[in-house]
Amino acid sequence: MHSDLSTYDTVIVGGGHNGLVAACYLAKAKKKVLLLESNDSLGGATASIQLFPDYEAYLSRYSYLVSLLPDQIVKDLGIQFTTLPRAIASYTPGKDENGDFGLLIASEWDKQTADSFRRLTGSDKEGFAWRSFYEEVARLAQRLAPSLLKPLRRASDIRSEVALPGIWQELIETPIGEVIENRFQNDLVRGVALTDALIGTFASDKDFNANACFLYHLIGNGTGQWRVPKGGMGQLIGELERIAISLGVTIHRRSKVTEIESGSNGIAVRTESGQRFCGRNLVFAAAPQLLANLLNQKEPESLPGSQLKINMLVSELPKLKSGVDPELAFAGTLHINESFLQLRNAFGVAQRGDLPDPLPLEIYCHTLADQSILSDELSKEGFHTLTLFALHTPHNLFTENPSEAKSRATDLALKSLNEYLLDPIESALAPCGENEFAMEVMTPLDLQSEVGLPRGNIFHNQLSFPFLLEGEEAIGKAKWGVATEDPHIVIGGAGARRGGGVSGIAGHNAAMAILEAN
Ligand SMILES: Cc1cc2nc3c(=O)[nH]c(=O)nc-3n(C[C@H](O)[C@H](O)[C@H](O)COP(=O)(O)OP(=O)(O)OC[C@H]3O[C@@H](n4cnc5c(N)ncnc54)[C@H](O)[C@@H]3O)c2cc1C
Repeated sequence: MHSDLSTYDTVIVGGGHNGLVAACYLAKAKKKVLLLESNDSLGGATASIQLFPDYEAYLSRYSYLVSLLPDQIVKDLGIQFTTLPRAIASYTPGKDENGDFGLLIASEWDKQTADSFRRLTGSDKEGFAWRSFYEEVARLAQRLAPSLLKPLRRASDIRSEVALPGIWQELIETPIGEVIENRFQNDLVRGVALTDALIGTFASDKDFNANACFLYHLIGNGTGQWRVPKGGMGQLIGELERIAISLGVTIHRRSKVTEIESGSNGIAVRTESGQRFCGRNLVFAAAPQLLANLLNQKEPESLPGSQLKINMLVSELPKLKSGVDPELAFAGTLHINESFLQLRNAFGVAQRGDLPDPLPLEIYCHTLADQSILSDELSKEGFHTLTLFALHTPHNLFTENPSEAKSRATDLALKSLNEYLLDPIESALAPCGENEFAMEVMTPLDLQSEVGLPRGNIFHNQLSFPFLLEGEEAIGKAKWGVATEDPHIVIGGAGARRGGGVSGIAGHNAAMAILEAN
């Protein structure tokens, strides 16, 4: 067994983007930092990979869009990472006895969006309701976003600063499903709004977990705009690694931490291969459930992951039955079978222990905004990458017979998508190996084994409101939302109070808690 006799100021467990952000801030403050990552590569759920050996295409394997990463972190650390705007926010096809139709929403309100609302709903009323709702949400977002990198503020203080108490009451104090039903009349419009409350959160639209999820999807940088990571998610990790190394951080890959000891002067960790490292502080930048296991404590309760992620390479963009230009439909989030009632029914079916049919899902094309993840040859030939994210497929549905459930869920996802395509998606998928397509499917179970997401929860834990609730107190490291019962250990991953998503906020706040205490 090898023992590293030097004592680090901070040992970081987990080399996802949050662990790297924490490492950079601490090293920038001249602290001696060691980062231990169990996998061969850094990045965790923020990684790019050449998934299909026959094709030079580097897909964002897990997370794929960026909204929550504060500009301040990018600036503080000098991260050279560009995100590109999406001209289209979403397209949602629908069908009835008169045929196929759809709702196109641009990222900035424009004539085509107004026309699309009018065509769908028969008047300008729903479009007007949409605009005024999201303008009010944006006002709240502008108040909340800057608070995420500061000690937790009281709900009452933030509420008093938001000039519109109504929107606070709606988003924080009223079940989001009720709010959406009050604000909008059309089932499809309601569904587009509701998806932001359900992605990555297995909850009913009447559950406040859905409110928290909705908020996180709309507050990023005060605009809630979801942007395309230029070069893919791996670019962010490459940059963070470059900066960490330049600041003197020691990084060990293939170093799974299997034991943590804590004493009066600090902590010691042991890795699977028997190496031992000591530090004054420990940032646990993986899921809090994994920390609880290492400390022989009870795991914090958390919702299961409930998504299916399918990564695809297609030789051409599929055409839709509604006749919309595929370059518009796939440029934003293409919602499939995600009307309000479909989402509500799907949740009920999944909760009763079955896979929903039709399966609600969304799909998006990275390469319409950024071709740099493709070789010149694939780009010239018109290939595209597609990312499909299906909702309401909770972890427990996969545990009994994982391969059968995965194959059924895959069939349901493709069937759901194909309902709206002129030709089945299979005819566009690039061939790969013998009788195979360039398609990778990941269930919550796969996410647990690949990146250590407990029960596949993409946010590690369920999201909570990013402020102190009435009667809640926080002192010391708890002010940053990262404290544990152990004075030397803080949570620095997505499971921290304001973690969740690709934001680096948890890593930043863990570093601040340590620096403030020392
Ligand atoms: C399919 C999918 C799609 C998503 N889409 C988006 C999106 O588009 N936009 C968005 O903002 N968010 C998205 N998310 C959520 C987001 O990716 C995560 O919340 C975020 O990446 C978590 O980052 P993290 O650094 O906190 O933890 P992780 O990325 O989970 O990294 C934790 C790291 O710790 C390592 N580790 C675990 N245990 C140990 C141990 N014992 N010893 C050493 N190392 C250990 C793991 O290997 C891992 O590398 C998505 C997530 C998934 C899974």
